[in-house]
Amino acid sequence: MSEAAERLAVYLDQRRRLGEPALAPSAPAEMVELAAAAAARGLLGPPDADETRGGGAERGAGRRSPAGAADTVLPTGAAETARWAASAGYDDLRKAALGCTRCRLAGGRRNVAFSDGSPDARLVVVGEAPGAEEDATGLPFVGQAGKLLDLMLAAVGLSRKESVYICNVLKCRPPGNRNPMPDEIEACAPFLKRQIELVAPAALLAVGAFAANWLAASHSAPGQSQRALGKLRGEVYRYGATPLVVTYHPAALLRNPAWSRLAWDDLQLLRRVMDEK
Ligand code: SF4
Repeated sequence: MSEAAERLAVYLDQRRRLGEPALAPSAPAEMVELAAAAAARGLLGPPDADETRGGGAERGAGRRSPAGAADTVLPTGAAETARWAASAGYDDLRKAALGCTRCRLAGGRRNVAFSDGSPDARLVVVGEAPGAEEDATGLPFVGQAGKLLDLMLAAVGLSRKESVYICNVLKCRPPGNRNPMPDEIEACAPFLKRQIELVAPAALLAVGAFAANWLAASHSAPGQSQRALGKLRGEVYRYGATPLVVTYHPAALLRNPAWSRLAWDDLQLLRRVMDEK
């Protein structure tokens, strides 16, 4: 076992002793070893007992706010909302999302998972929608999928705490983790568009088919239906002027370990794109 792998083994053992289940054992050796090196340098943060995934400037920014905090009211009507969001400042945008009732998902949510990570990030990661743990915490990408995402990012030298901003296409949880519906994506799109504009990253990483299709929509033929992630990955797209790389959602990687090698290739592509900026 290499020194890096040994460090990872210690790191994972610490996590297990703190009551966390085994973590992403199927990740490719290179990803695991580089993530171990990042963990050893403190990029993943110490495995202390109350650690939840995330942190940094936006930690908890998507939680349901205390009374009065979500007092930015969105205008009614899709066009008015889009116009308002297009010029909103970051805090107003976040507050408006926390109180948003623009689609049916508002009725079943516990928390709005607006974002995690740093608004000054060079990379924006866009996923699909909150799951049960994200709904409970108000943070995107927590739980096992979030931990694997942290490892994936660390494998290419990126830290969720400092250099990544994370959000989803939908800010509220679809019931039973069903797929997002087109009208929900449309209703929520002004938030995501403005988040990307305000963060102005050097690159975007879409994880999962919904985020990939939405962000790479300008590369689709008119009327083209949702494309499978496997058909989309492996290319550098553009979202406006921002380069976009797509890869599998970490939850899909946990279910399909054989795709880890492909995800590793995607992350290497992302690293090259970011190094060129
Ligand atoms: S999913 Fe988006 S549009 Fe729907 S209620 Fe939540 S924040 Fe509003």
